[in-house]
Amino acid sequence: MMLIDPHTHSNESDGTDTPAQLMQGAARAGLAMVGLTDHDVTFGWEEAGAAVPETGVALLRGMEMSCAWEGITVHMLSYLHDPADPDLLAAARKTIDSRENRARIMVERISQDFPITWDDVLRYAPEDGAIGRPHIADALVAAGSFENRNQAFEYVLHPRGPYYYFHWAQDPVVAVQQIRAAGGVPVIAHPLARQRQRVLPMSVLADLVDAGLAGFETNHPDHTEADAQILRDLAAKHGIFITGSSDYHGTGKPNRLAQNTTPLEVIEEIERQGKLDIIRP
Ligand code: AMP
Ligand code: MN
Ligand code: MN
Ligand code: MN
Repeated sequence: MMLIDPHTHSNESDGTDTPAQLMQGAARAGLAMVGLTDHDVTFGWEEAGAAVPETGVALLRGMEMSCAWEGITVHMLSYLHDPADPDLLAAARKTIDSRENRARIMVERISQDFPITWDDVLRYAPEDGAIGRPHIADALVAAGSFENRNQAFEYVLHPRGPYYYFHWAQDPVVAVQQIRAAGGVPVIAHPLARQRQRVLPMSVLADLVDAGLAGFETNHPDHTEADAQILRDLAAKHGIFITGSSDYHGTGKPNRLAQNTTPLEVIEEIERQGKLDIIRP
């Protein structure tokens, strides 16, 4: 049995492990392969790739692209795309800039009621990358306002809370087209994570398939078993593959490496469709 966990984060986005620590953790968790999929950046690929020989863990290079459809947040995983593709880089740059503006506005609002500053938040954010609510949560935890990120998300950082502000993100149908054009393999992340946010209507999931979507992430900590089954049935109907992952974020979430995994034959299909290769020990 080869255990493969294809969706995880490092501190190049909102995880807490460095890419090398993530690879070491993957080895300890008994994984044969890990997918590094930081939000909107590929900056961790080099360090994680360099740790492949010593850890013996293969690296599936990916990215979790921020998207939005009519105010609904959508996360699109892209695997094995050209990291220098100009269209994907332009969308990422626009997202990263808009995320910073949004975070500044949220921190401004939150600081009326809680003792945090913009500089506090910057301490937890990657230097150039997708600054997000988890980094604001880290500042709130450090200030003693909350015990952990999850508590900060319950109200203060919640989309329906009083401090929330939206950021620009790519349309998910355009994202699927751009990922394919960049040689990548698009898989929609946690499409039915209803506890956290509003989710896409089924009709838009079908539009994504028509645009070239390769798979649904069905086995995810934020999915109920009933919703995972709905997605398995829908994937079978459309003839696309399904994946499972932990969506590990280090100490930022309770999710543990190898909590959910994806069969080798699905990963081989991703590699067949993708422009880049998996980095193997
Ligand atoms: P943002 O991209 O800034 O809107 O923040 C969304 C990110 O926050 C997601 O990628 C999750 O990793 C993280 N997140 C969402 N809900 C929670 C939670 N309850 N606890 C910890 N992290 C969370
Ligand atoms: Mn995240
Ligand atoms: Mn996500
Ligand atoms: Mn993720």
